[in-house]
Amino acid sequence: MTVRQAKLSANAGAGNRYRQTLARIESACQSCGRQAAQLQLLAVSKTRAAPEIESLYALGHRDFGENYLQESLPKIAALPRDCRWHFIGPLQGNKTRAVAENFDWVHSLCSARHARRLAAARPADRDALRVFVQVNIDAEPSKAGCDVADVAALCAEIQELPALELRGLMAIPRPERDGGDPAAAFSRLAQLQDSIAPALPDLSMGMSDDLEAAVAAGSTILRIGTALFGPRPQ
Ligand SMILES: *Cc1c(COP(=O)(O)O)cnc(C)c1O
Repeated sequence: MTVRQAKLSANAGAGNRYRQTLARIESACQSCGRQAAQLQLLAVSKTRAAPEIESLYALGHRDFGENYLQESLPKIAALPRDCRWHFIGPLQGNKTRAVAENFDWVHSLCSARHARRLAAARPADRDALRVFVQVNIDAEPSKAGCDVADVAALCAEIQELPALELRGLMAIPRPERDGGDPAAAFSRLAQLQDSIAPALPDLSMGMSDDLEAAVAAGSTILRIGTALFGPRPQ
């Protein structure tokens, strides 16, 4: 659902963090002349128990992001069927089948081998699995994601697979506290997408600490955990 619709349905009930986050997104949009209706909010629910997720569901929220397959499956089973589940964590070859069967979106695809496995395992009666190519936008040595130089070829391979629907690029820039410049990294990701596949509809970028910079650079899906649920347990 769009941020605007979410805000309307949240007005009635509890959920201060939810309302504050939606207000933050709205004001980020106003600062750069964008419409909040162009943005989707993905609630990152890793480490959160099912009742915490249900409280967002009760406010009308439907899109949830999980990083670990084992942790996610009981929650997917516990929540109502009309939730949309986004896999945002590291993919492993032996988990691709369960991801393809249980999720609607994957934000963390970075190899052609995993793309083929996801496509082969996607049940025929489900819509195409919506995917993002994760890019190692700051070329960090130990970071997940496809090298910038390999993104175009991987996108082309994914577009040959009818069971997958390529939506755009995703990145997690080096945080400001580690010497990174997320605003510059988001702009580079947006330019990269423009240069290889300008028709793709989405850009998955922005987390709790850097959502304003992501909105300004053209994000369409914000992946937000801490701002919605509070600090994660270690
Ligand atoms: C945990 C996580 C997020 C959310 O991060 P917050 O800082 O808690 O908002 C977003 N994207 C990915 C890939 C994550 O692993």
